[in-house]
Amino acid sequence: MKNFKQIYKEADNKITGIAAAPGIVIGNVYLFSKEVLEINGDLITDVDEALINLNEALEKSKKELSKVVQLAKEKMEDTRAAIFEAQVMILDDPILIETIANRVANEKRLPEYIVNDEITKYQNMMRHSAASYMKERANDIEDIKNRIIRNLQKKRWQSKIAEDVIVVSETLTPADAILFSKRSVKGFVTDHGGLTSHAAIISRSLDIPAVVGTHNACSSISNGDIIIVDGFHGYVIYNPTEEQIKFFREKIEHHKILRAELAGLKNEPAATIDGKQINLFANVDVTGEIDLVFTNDAKGIGLYRTEQILEETGDFPNEEEQTKIYNTLAERLYPKTITIRAFDIGGDKVKFLDFKEPNPFLGMRGIRVLLDNINIFKTQVKAVLRASKNKNVQLMIPMITTLEEVRKTKELVEICKMELKKDKIDFDKNMRLGIMVEVPAAAVMTFDLASEVDFISIGTNDLIQFLNAVDRGNDLVYNLYQEFSPGLIRTLAHIVSEGKRAKKTVSICGEMAADTLAIPLLVGLGLDSLSMSPTTIPYAKRIIRNCQYTDLQNLAKECLVLSSEKDITEKIEKFFRAHQITRTRNLI
Ligand code: PEP
Ligand code: MG
Repeated sequence: MKNFKQIYKEADNKITGIAAAPGIVIGNVYLFSKEVLEINGDLITDVDEALINLNEALEKSKKELSKVVQLAKEKMEDTRAAIFEAQVMILDDPILIETIANRVANEKRLPEYIVNDEITKYQNMMRHSAASYMKERANDIEDIKNRIIRNLQKKRWQSKIAEDVIVVSETLTPADAILFSKRSVKGFVTDHGGLTSHAAIISRSLDIPAVVGTHNACSSISNGDIIIVDGFHGYVIYNPTEEQIKFFREKIEHHKILRAELAGLKNEPAATIDGKQINLFANVDVTGEIDLVFTNDAKGIGLYRTEQILEETGDFPNEEEQTKIYNTLAERLYPKTITIRAFDIGGDKVKFLDFKEPNPFLGMRGIRVLLDNINIFKTQVKAVLRASKNKNVQLMIPMITTLEEVRKTKELVEICKMELKKDKIDFDKNMRLGIMVEVPAAAVMTFDLASEVDFISIGTNDLIQFLNAVDRGNDLVYNLYQEFSPGLIRTLAHIVSEGKRAKKTVSICGEMAADTLAIPLLVGLGLDSLSMSPTTIPYAKRIIRNCQYTDLQNLAKECLVLSSEKDITEKIEKFFRAHQITRTRNLI
């Protein structure tokens, strides 16, 4: 039986995109092309009539939008329905509406021309912002602009599509996604958009498989074609062969059974057969993933990458703004814990320096940038402290190399606490402080570093990169980027035992924790907290619940004396076979 890798390698009828919402579907294409609205800028003679038309169109748009919002609220959580806020705001903006009406009266032009002109100005402002988030909002506003114009032209939205189709489109607005879901659409494919596009977020919420950013799906696929959408791996297959259809049908069946089984585990503990409790936390990169923390029953957030906020806003938000962001998360999570990681700027992430570093991964990154820019660091620490008042927030520092960095950070936290106290602002006086162990020197020095803080979390993504001297993003040396190298396994064992000797919580939040093959080994090495992408949690839980802790400890012991990656991988695979545990996630 072939696996996904082979199937995709052989397929010359595939389109690559971004896996935006998990699931696989096979179905007929509905090619959704947005009607191109022609804007008429003719002069008018009857201003009163034009203003009445404008009012009617605005009222109708309001009614339509409130229907969409209502539907969104029924189908998704309220927070998700807030996606439509930008559109509601436009319709409720008295200054904008007045400007449009005044211009119609003064310029004596058709309202559709003025509406287009005014709202486009808004969008251009947003599109020129450096933040990808603002760019997405500009697309949302396109939707309301077109809605008003369509209503002014008295045209209807083309919603009459057959049920159970896969919608393929250049772009998709949130409202399109919601309305299509009413017609039991099976999947979405869009040429534009990324993971954080609202259509992607909504697809995840509605549980509709989606692949976005395909660039050429619309030009390669025709209406009525049969396609396969793989929202796990981010591929679309068009004109599938018999073999491909058979392969993916089996995967769909398999996934159905698995989902039912995993759903049954939702409120069961993540504990081994002999009762060893493992804490499964979620890594969260974008706010849109918060719902997944709950649906997948995570114990809390083990890693919240705050540099993502800089990516979204294009700037450093001030203390108030950051407090608001962290507070919202902490309140939403309460009483679950959230681990907020200080900005990990540099490397391949958010650019900070205005000059090019010869080796960015070995340059100004994480704590190095923060200690060099005390005001940025202080602002963030104070905001995190302010969000900690309900005692469910902890702060984590990335890229620690030396003891001095930890001590300087602790001093800074104390100064922040004093300042907040002086201003009579409430915070958790015992907020836990932790560090990432992801630099080899820090791994060697685990006992000394862990003794200074409340917890440590292993960042295997960077640790592997630095331990094996392989750039984590360079595919030329990818074969050396090994999760199961004896060097790494032995380093992990050292970190765990030294962290525990310092009597501190030791967890792992690198991608390795999300690799189902690694889970028995990590638990066997003594890690009792694993943080991973939320959708992996049920799979990890299933594996843990099928193992004896003593067997896992033995497995780790056996792996620690092996000297090659191949031997370690084979040993773990054998363990899975011997205990009849399927590494289910990798079959999907
Ligand atoms: C890591 O390095 O393992 C980690 C979790 O951090 P990031 O991937 O954000 O560098
Ligand atoms: Mg890292």
